[in-house]
Amino acid sequence: MSIFDHPEFDNHEEVVFCHDRDSGLKAIIAIHNRNLGPALGGCRMWPYASDDEALTDALRLSRGMTYKSALADLALGGGKSVIIGDSRTMKSDALFRAMGRFVDSLGGRYTIAEDVGVGVDDIDIMGQETAHVAGRGGDGVGDPSPATAYGVYKGIQAAVAHKLGHASLQDLRISVQGVGAVGYHLCRYLHQAGGKLVVTDIDVESVRRVVEEFGAEAVDLEDIYDADVDIYAPCALGASVNDETIPRLRAKIVAGSANNQLAEARHGSDLAERGILYAPDYVINAGGVIHVSYEGGTFDAARVRSHIGRIGKTLTEIFERAASKRIPTSDAADRLAEERFGATKLGPSVAA
Ligand code: NAD
Repeated sequence: MSIFDHPEFDNHEEVVFCHDRDSGLKAIIAIHNRNLGPALGGCRMWPYASDDEALTDALRLSRGMTYKSALADLALGGGKSVIIGDSRTMKSDALFRAMGRFVDSLGGRYTIAEDVGVGVDDIDIMGQETAHVAGRGGDGVGDPSPATAYGVYKGIQAAVAHKLGHASLQDLRISVQGVGAVGYHLCRYLHQAGGKLVVTDIDVESVRRVVEEFGAEAVDLEDIYDADVDIYAPCALGASVNDETIPRLRAKIVAGSANNQLAEARHGSDLAERGILYAPDYVINAGGVIHVSYEGGTFDAARVRSHIGRIGKTLTEIFERAASKRIPTSDAADRLAEERFGATKLGPSVAA
């Protein structure tokens, strides 16, 4: 397996392979770029089928964090880590302590936080070995999901204003695919704003909760793409915007929390050609990283909320740039991020 020829390698600064025999830890930490500051990014625990699959995820996700933090007005670089293993059966104190020691060995170049399969409790264990953790429980900032949902909500408001010319979400119909941690809180915000919800999830209990609490209409998993809605909010897994689903979408806006919503980059152009406004995923879902970036300092909830609220302004700038340059919003977001983090400048020497 070659790193430098890997299709997902994009001038990453550092890729660390971590192994601890006693605990069975196998992990990869990838630092993409630190031009804007030390790298911050979540740790994903997943039963990858191969080492290459894990490496692919680490390279791709860490690059995404560079772009996300640059557009979230954070003085942070992009990094991410993956632990190879099943989070339901393979978690242990020893495993997370070992991971914490690896993070510590990087001397602050990378700060670790939650991602799929890794929660606040796990962060707290790693925090016993290193100070370079974010999203701790107790006096830490905790679970970022409600903050992510708030950012998505503000992003939907900006998209609605740009595309539909509405100042409010009252009576707009929004489909939410995946009503887990982020999707649930997003439904709450949308319901409070007068939106009408259409939801789906593989977890029956999660669906029941939003039907009961927010009067959502539940549909079968596949029917979410055909729903007669104004906005489609993907909040489950990635790649739900693809060749098969795009022709079915009746929404005028795609705006949700899921990472990597476009199956391929060209699907950003396909959405634009159909007149569907896409709120680039890493811009609209940055509420969580903004939230955890406040770990360790004085947590002023109003200040953090106002910072997250700026996601709407950034999206509006991206929508306007895309319209004036006649490019897809996904491309406009990439260009703006690259301007901000200086994609052409390599390495930490320019960090000062
Ligand atoms: P979660 O696991 O709590 O929720 C995801 C939900 O999607 C679950 O309820 C799951 O049952 C459901 N689901 C899975 N496959 C589905 C399918 N095919 N159809 C319908 N539902 C399906 O995760 P989360 O923390 O809410 O994150 C949701 C998405 O947002 C993920 O893509 C995640 O990477 C992204 N995200 C989350 C955060 C955060 O702060 N949690 C931050 C940025 C991005």
